[in-house]
Amino acid sequence: MLADLHTHSRRSDGTDSPEQLVRRAAERGIDVLALTDHDSAAGWAEAQRAADEVGVAVVSGIEVSCRHRGAGVHLLAYLPDPGFPPLVAELSRVLEGRAARLPATVLALQHAGVAIGVDDVHRVSGDAVATGRPHVADALVALGVVRDRTQAFDRWLSPGRAGYVDRYAADLRSMIALVTAAGGVSVVAHPWARSSARVLDAAELAGLRDAGLAGVEADHHDHSRAQRVGLHGLASDLGLVATGASDYHGRGKVDHELGSCSTSPGQLDRLLELAAMARERAGRGTPAPSLA
Ligand code: AMP
Ligand code: FE
Ligand code: FE
Ligand code: ZN
Repeated sequence: MLADLHTHSRRSDGTDSPEQLVRRAAERGIDVLALTDHDSAAGWAEAQRAADEVGVAVVSGIEVSCRHRGAGVHLLAYLPDPGFPPLVAELSRVLEGRAARLPATVLALQHAGVAIGVDDVHRVSGDAVATGRPHVADALVALGVVRDRTQAFDRWLSPGRAGYVDRYAADLRSMIALVTAAGGVSVVAHPWARSSARVLDAAELAGLRDAGLAGVEADHHDHSRAQRVGLHGLASDLGLVATGASDYHGRGKVDHELGSCSTSPGQLDRLLELAAMARERAGRGTPAPSLA
C-alpha cells in the first residue's frame, strides 16, 4: 500500500493537469494519492474522475498558505467541505493576495532591470487558480533570464531578493479551527523546512494539537534524516499522526517524484479515521475514498 499525501497539479504550481497527475500515480504504483494544490480545490473534480478510471484512491486536499507568529506555515487540509462558506471566504482572501502580488512582483523585477510583463507570467500559468512565484519563475525561464525554477528563486524570488513581495496568508490557528468546522483534518506540511522551522518547536506543536491539529508531515524532501526521525518521535510523543509525501510539482521541482516519500498504512488509517470523525461531528465534509 503506497500512499503519497501531498502533490500539486497545474491548478496551482505543478505542471501536470489533475488527470495527468492521477494517471502518473497509477503508472508509478501509487494506491492512495492526495491532490493538495495551494489554496484551492479547483482540481478535485477532475482528479476524482480520473481516479475512478485508473483505480487510484484520491484523497482531496488543499495546502493552505498560513502564518504563525510571523512565519509562513503551510497547512494540509484533508477532506474539508470545499463549499463551507467561511472556508471559501478565507481561501478567496488568500487567492486575492496571490493575484494582487503578481503585478507587484513584476513591477519589482522591472525596477531591478528585468524585462518582464504580467502577460509573460499569464502565458505560462495557464489554467492555474493559485498563481505564485513558481509561475513567475517559469516566465523568467521562458524569457531566458534563468535556467530553471531553482535558479529563479535563488537569484530573484526568495525572501531578500529583488523580486520578493509578501502576500496575505491565513492565521494558522484560525485555519485549523476552520478546517475542523468544515469536517476535515489538518496536517502541518514540512514543519521543519524553511521559515516554519523556527516557530514550530515541540511546545508549539503541542499547542496546535490542542487546537485541533491532527498531524505533521515528517518524511519530506526538505527535512534532513535527523529532522525526519525527530518529527516521527515528536508525533508519537504528542499523539499526532506522522505522514510522508513527495510534494510532487511535476517538472517544477526536481527530486520530488511521486511516491519518493510516503505515508505508512497505519498512519493513513489513523488520519482517515480522524477525518471520518471530524466529518461526523461537523455534519459536513468530503467523503474519503474507499481503500479497496
Ligand atoms: P508562493 O506560493 O508564490 O509563495 O511560492 C512558493 C512555492 O514555490 C512553493 O510551493 C514551492 O513549491 C515553490 N518553491 C519554493 N522554493 C523553490 C525553489 N527553490 N525551486 C522551485 N520551487 C520552489
Ligand atoms: Fe508549490
Ligand atoms: Fe508547501
Ligand atoms: Zn506543497
